[in-house]
Amino acid sequence: LKKKNRQATSEVDAVPTGMMNFRKKTLGGKRTVSSNFVSPVAQKENSTSSQSSSIPPALAHLDSKMVEHILGESMHDFKPVAWEDIAGLESAKSTFLEAIIMPLRRPDLFTGVRCPPRGVLLFGPPGTGKTLIAKSIASQAKAKFFSINPSSLTSKWVGDAEKLVKTLFAVAAAHQPAIIFIDEVDSLLSKRSGNENESTLRLKNEFLIHLDGAASNEEIRVLVIGATNRPQELDEAVRRRFVRRLYVPLPTREARQKIIEKLIRQVKHNLDVVQVTELAELTDGYSGADVDTLCRYASMAPLRSLTPDQMEVIETHQLPAVTMADFKQALRVISKSVSAEDCKQFEAWNEIYGVRH
Ligand code: ADP
Repeated sequence: LKKKNRQATSEVDAVPTGMMNFRKKTLGGKRTVSSNFVSPVAQKENSTSSQSSSIPPALAHLDSKMVEHILGESMHDFKPVAWEDIAGLESAKSTFLEAIIMPLRRPDLFTGVRCPPRGVLLFGPPGTGKTLIAKSIASQAKAKFFSINPSSLTSKWVGDAEKLVKTLFAVAAAHQPAIIFIDEVDSLLSKRSGNENESTLRLKNEFLIHLDGAASNEEIRVLVIGATNRPQELDEAVRRRFVRRLYVPLPTREARQKIIEKLIRQVKHNLDVVQVTELAELTDGYSGADVDTLCRYASMAPLRSLTPDQMEVIETHQLPAVTMADFKQALRVISKSVSAEDCKQFEAWNEIYGVRH
């Protein structure tokens, strides 16, 4: 297995960094007139694909419009995300490699008592890399990636949401190995309250049935990854089904430094190692997304100093370098988005329900 792990990692190593841009498509999200089915598998520039031809016969009994909608809207097309694209979180990565990725790649080795968990919960402050982790798992496991956003799902598919969930799991199973990523899972599967309407209850139950079904059937290689910033809101029955519950905390100083280094490599700058280290210190408490925003803001400074006329004619190599002063100015504008109090709450929940990794 160790050898296999190494192979898997080096395959991922081969994925160039800076390939994190992906097209955001989410089931229940906005649908445009021109949105087409795009296979998540890299295709040649000019290759074509038709929706109907991609519907496997096994799904013929399902509502074809819904199947097409799922294939078109929730099956994501993104460039592979390598572990190296995610700064820090080393122990979470090794846990996932062994517990999730390898079993999806080599199901024959992980049967019976070795059968992997089918539900994983990633919890922690916003902007810490939960979505990145889910995408990286899909990239490394060579799994199809389905993403749903409950808040838009429930409003868009009123009355039909339960049927949509059923169809989603069937489509995912037909494309296995597959990952169903549910962002803001708490809003879909929150604690049951007395005044819940009938359709919300049915929707939740449908999810529970499928989570159980995936867990009890070794043939089904569908992994459900839920992400939440509010784990305490989760329904207890749901919490139990997410067997692995991993805390994705704010980045450490080293991780922040890596994010900064990687981003400033893309622009002309005159920061030395000491200054980058200082920036990593100064961003204590920032999430990965906050650090990203900070770097982007600072990197715009050379452009901000230009008049519109200058901007029309200047060559890229003539742009001034980004300086430490630009970052200091950016630090005054871009502040951290997560409070220490929030972190304490995550840590407390992690103590009770999280798994050590
Ligand atoms: P979450 O799902 O936890 O809200 P995301 O995974 O969507 O956060 O991260 C948002 C953005 O923040 C990413 O696209 C990336 O630019 C940056 N980011 C967050 N965490 C990290 C990390 N650990 N390493 C590198 N970039 C990160």
